Amino acid sequence: MNHELQETINRWKAYLQKIEQRFDQSLQQAEEVCKDLLVESKYDYYEVMKTWMAIKSQIYDISKSVTQTWEEKVYPQLRLHTNFDVPKELHESNFTYFLITKLDHFERNLEADLSQTFYNQAIQSANQQFFCTQCHSPLAIQSNVFRAHYVTCNYCQATNTFTPDTKYAQIGGNIIDNIVAKKCEPLYLQMQNSLNVIQSQRPPVVEQLWEKYKTDYFTYYETFFTERMKLNNDAKDRFGADMQRKKTEYEQYENLHKKSY
Ligand SMILES: [Zn+2]
Repeated sequence: MNHELQETINRWKAYLQKIEQRFDQSLQQAEEVCKDLLVESKYDYYEVMKTWMAIKSQIYDISKSVTQTWEEKVYPQLRLHTNFDVPKELHESNFTYFLITKLDHFERNLEADLSQTFYNQAIQSANQQFFCTQCHSPLAIQSNVFRAHYVTCNYCQATNTFTPDTKYAQIGGNIIDNIVAKKCEPLYLQMQNSLNVIQSQRPPVVEQLWEKYKTDYFTYYETFFTERMKLNNDAKDRFGADMQRKKTEYEQYENLHKKSY
């Protein structure tokens, strides 16, 4: 390999290394900012998410700058060496895919951590404000129900109604979903991986690969919905409908794909 070409490749690799460092630092800062803001905003989850979206778009720009540098500077230089085949590992798309995957993993974990903190806080604060209307004993809320429900006092047997505030009701929505998503991440990645394999194939894709993706797909969603039921009692009633929806989505995807060949 000639010296000039080797220099270009070395410079590009050094540049990518610097970019990755900057990227990691940005993620670390984002985590600190978001976690601090959750407490400072008195657990306003949506406020934190708005901030995270703004930071995320800045981080995303780092990956766009890699593509730009490649297209404007690096690739034209490499093309000057006509007998050199640019290997896949050197291509910017290889690197930006790595960054985006990292960002995706980071986001899933950040949302799960913020959600867990929010969850603990909302449950604790609701419990601290809930007393028997008859004897004023402290009462414990049923921890997997996020709508109004009855609680019987252990001391005087009086029936009390717990009415959730906005934050408490929010747990039953995306807060629990985020916690469960982190728990099921290995299965999610396995499903994505099988999908990537299908998408990287030249059609028609062999049936075994579809079978593999289908198995991973249903394993992931069934586990996700089952884990969700453990934290949210009302999710039990939705299990059948949720699985049916995912089945329909899967069939639509497979049909659409197979129609094209
Ligand atoms: Zn009582």
